[in-house]
Amino acid sequence: MFRALIEMIVTLVAVYLVRQVLSILGSSFKGGFSGGSPSGGSAGAPPPRPPAASKLGELKKDPVCGTFISTETAFQKSVKGETFYFCSMQCRDSYNG
Ligand SMILES: [Zn+2]
Repeated sequence: MFRALIEMIVTLVAVYLVRQVLSILGSSFKGGFSGGSPSGGSAGAPPPRPPAASKLGELKKDPVCGTFISTETAFQKSVKGETFYFCSMQCRDSYNG
């Protein structure tokens, strides 16, 4: 009675696994073969920019919990002329500089 169901599930899992393995093999094969960016240097298209960094400002370390946060999004607190950056209001409020 449940045999058909079990066979169907096994088939689905097998197909899923095969697809995962194929995609892993395919991506590693492509990456290793072209040696880096596949879309770099094509005519007309603007050069791809590296993600993050420039738009997100500088990374600073939260002195309370040690998390690195962007200066653009961090909670700031100035203590004796020095600016500190925090990941959250809780961290900012709990910091006694
Ligand atoms: Zn924090």
